Amino acid sequence: MNIKIGNLIYQGKAKGIYETDDPKKVVVEFRDDITAGDGAKKDKISTKGFWNSIISAKFFEVLENAGIKTQYIDLIKPGCMLSWKLEMIPLEVITRNIAAGSLLRRYPFQPKQTFDPPIIQIDYKSDEYGDPMLNTDIAIALDLIDEEKLKIIKGTSLKINKTLKDFLESKGLLFPDFKIEYGYDMDGNIILGDEISPDTCRFWDSETCDVLDKDLFRQGESGVIEAYKRVASIILDDEDKKRWNIEL
Ligand code: UDP
Repeated sequence: MNIKIGNLIYQGKAKGIYETDDPKKVVVEFRDDITAGDGAKKDKISTKGFWNSIISAKFFEVLENAGIKTQYIDLIKPGCMLSWKLEMIPLEVITRNIAAGSLLRRYPFQPKQTFDPPIIQIDYKSDEYGDPMLNTDIAIALDLIDEEKLKIIKGTSLKINKTLKDFLESKGLLFPDFKIEYGYDMDGNIILGDEISPDTCRFWDSETCDVLDKDLFRQGESGVIEAYKRVASIILDDEDKKRWNIEL
């Protein structure tokens, strides 16, 4: 694929978005920066961007195969993802299968309490306001989205959850929760964007309950990159490792 990478058009906390010579496409660069607590804790972990891009690409492919449209086009090389250009919606859509993290800090749930049906929580993506949780009335009053689109987002998120949870459980991983973001493509369709990686999901080993995600960084523990690599080695098959030239 012969794509020319142009100017940086958006710089996030862990990714950069570059324009390309095709106005419909962008390149997403996954960086090694890692943050927690709304940027209060910051570091760089060598090769983290590489692993997150591969893990995200694999999940996007699993979702595309299940008929869910995503921003993903191709992994140009590890760390660099060719994607459809979206106008992002400033919502963080969190789906929860098992109680963990902020849910335990804010509400009287039991650790590891399971949710069936899953809980969908929608936060306003805003560093300035600390990503506050929304309800439908506030989201509409803020002009972030309308009720019909909110329904599409919730329905799609449940489908994404079921697809990824089934996939992960078949590989011996639990999927307590994850955060996704959506945007509009050039025809106004709502499409899954951003990333799906150990930075934005919780993954636990089903047998040992080992934590294999950013909670290790949040809690100041070692072995962050080893955990991310373990997720990659669990979800990638031999064919993936060959086409992306990865040794695990
Ligand atoms: N999450 C995220 N970005 C955020 C907040 C949460 O990717 O700004 C993810 C997080 O990794 C977890 C899920 O969303 O998989 C739920 O996070 P939670 O509300 O428990 O927040 P935390 O306890 O991690 O601060």
